[in-house]
Amino acid sequence: MRNTNLSEMIKNYEQTLNCLGIRTQKNWAKRLLFARRMKGNATKISYISKSKIEGLKENVKGFILNPECLEQRQKHFTAERPNKFLNRLIDTEYKHTSTEHSLIEKIAETFNKQFLANIENNFKFFKGQDIGEAYNENRAIIGCMSGKSLSYFNVYAETEGLRLATLVDESGTILIRALLWYCKKSKKYFLDNSYEQSNINGDEQLRRTYQGKLLKAVLKAIRRKRIDCAFNSTLSKDDKQICFRDDESKGIKTYPSADMQPICNNVESEFYPYSDNFKSICKHSGEWATEENSGDNDYILLNDTNGTDCNANRTECCDCSNTYDDEDDYIFYSEYHDASICDDCARYCEDREDYISSNDTSYDSYRSVYVLADDIQ
Ligand SMILES: [Zn+2]
Repeated sequence: MRNTNLSEMIKNYEQTLNCLGIRTQKNWAKRLLFARRMKGNATKISYISKSKIEGLKENVKGFILNPECLEQRQKHFTAERPNKFLNRLIDTEYKHTSTEHSLIEKIAETFNKQFLANIENNFKFFKGQDIGEAYNENRAIIGCMSGKSLSYFNVYAETEGLRLATLVDESGTILIRALLWYCKKSKKYFLDNSYEQSNINGDEQLRRTYQGKLLKAVLKAIRRKRIDCAFNSTLSKDDKQICFRDDESKGIKTYPSADMQPICNNVESEFYPYSDNFKSICKHSGEWATEENSGDNDYILLNDTNGTDCNANRTECCDCSNTYDDEDDYIFYSEYHDASICDDCARYCEDREDYISSNDTSYDSYRSVYVLADDIQ
């Protein structure tokens, strides 16, 4: 959406408000100046008030207003959600009824929606190290891994045919993102769930609009008419619009089977990312999995946003094979077994001052203690 469209849009909404008998401020256009879509966060309106300019001229030596200057926009201008901006047009003296109040809120909501649905966006793929760089560059990505060190994302760069599909606004801020990968074995493309900026994500209709835009752009980029399923999401032609679906009940495939998982060629890294739907990477096969452990006992657990492999701090019980966090006090080293054993499986034997598997112990009811069965024979 170009800026002229924004002024037109504001004028249209002002007219709507007036038609409904809601009084707007007569001189708001002379007070709220240079309103336009904010660079760096296209979901907001950036503007400056006349009184602010006067204050700056008075207090900042040599200040000359330049609405084209990004630094000035960031430093001195106000950035607001569109609905909040629209509320500023309403005459503060005007006492509106509660019906009018809810009407104003509804109108502001529609204004918000229209503004957010028309962000100028471009399709962009990130590959290899660029995926990590997109995450590392704070403003460019959405989510808990935003701004984390580059070294967290090595496994993305090492994964065959993996790309981050995004729509970015004119200043490079990512509006929506989803992992895309190509499986050589099945010759199919897979798309993971999408993640959107919070202002887009908060509105289901808006979210679908951007998901549809992203999907269309992805299909065009990979020159396919359709894409194979992704986690809980796939294509549907509902509302004659291509969109993601989150509906298992309608027979939509969930996750691709094991042979379609992305493969990481080098799993060795100092740090690892928290990776949304993916919960682990098998160390031997390099397969990314959506469960903690899918058949490979040696796996990296991607459950932490601070870069650690959660599995590295876990110990396996020699009896039941469950793993426990070392700090849990639920697993003990047993001299007798020369291995670790968990509280469920072990009995403490006082005579040996050791934890021993319940299979090898008997209860001495006379002394009320557990003993190693071999010791009493
Ligand atoms: Zn156990």
